Amino acid sequence: MTFRADLHCHSTCSDGSFSPRELIDLAIEAGLQALSITDHDTVEAYELAKPYAEEKGLILLPGAEFSAHFEHVNVHILAYCFDVNHGEILRLCKRHQERRRERNLRILEKLGKEGFKIDPEELFSLPSNALGRPHIAALLIQKGYVKDFSEAFHFYIGDGKKCYAEGAPLGIEETLEAIHAAKGLAMLAHPHLYKERAFPLKVLSFPFDGLEVEYALMNNRQNASWIRIAKKRSLLATGGSDFHGASKPHISLGASTISWERFEPLFKHFKGISN
Ligand code: AMP
Ligand code: FE
Ligand code: FE
Ligand code: ZN
Repeated sequence: MTFRADLHCHSTCSDGSFSPRELIDLAIEAGLQALSITDHDTVEAYELAKPYAEEKGLILLPGAEFSAHFEHVNVHILAYCFDVNHGEILRLCKRHQERRRERNLRILEKLGKEGFKIDPEELFSLPSNALGRPHIAALLIQKGYVKDFSEAFHFYIGDGKKCYAEGAPLGIEETLEAIHAAKGLAMLAHPHLYKERAFPLKVLSFPFDGLEVEYALMNNRQNASWIRIAKKRSLLATGGSDFHGASKPHISLGASTISWERFEPLFKHFKGISN
């Protein structure tokens, strides 16, 4: 059996629609040997899923996808193989929770001005520590204000759109410091998605350990250019589907995976910090 690992997906702990345990089942169904649940700005999925992953014989790596800002652009940073109970990581998650709360309130205020009434308590009562725009989009759909996620993002809450609000930004440097303090590895997520190629290249001047080179819906040529850059700079090369479930229905778990060759250095690092 060929080894395949999907190192990028989201659970109900952030904006995914499957629980950490359900993701383990989906990973087994998809024939994966290893998984990392990389929720936005929260690390709790790992401990929720770990016993079940062990029972099912699936390798599970601690993971998260942290939001940071550089030159007013939102940058996603994937963290792997860190100590999930480390104070610096937990402090980073707490700061994000506060940032999201304040920013979400401002988004709801702007939506209110468009005639879209959402009671903040309705949002805050949802069971996630990383409430964000997909949760707001789901409420907009539920109330019949928009027909789907893409309408919500395209017209109202996407980056720079009229009901978007920016949170108090966290920097790349402090994010990398927290990941490294917790003995983790930090990768620049989906460099393919930036408008200008020069931007992720500039971001890579921060002390990243690697780069997400394989990403769902990207063709071989698009991935190959980032594989070359990782090689040239001696960076680790990771990959995954960015599976969310309902908010991105066209992407399935395992839609993008990495081989043992790419996975091994992360696995070794993980073994090293676990001992
Ligand atoms: P937030 O973390 O609250 O800033 O929201 C950003 C998240 O919204 C991303 O991680 C995606 O999961 C989701 N997202 C962004 N654009 C879209 C879109 N066009 N359709 C569905 N989900 C989206
Ligand atoms: Fe997301
Ligand atoms: Fe992302
Ligand atoms: Zn993601």
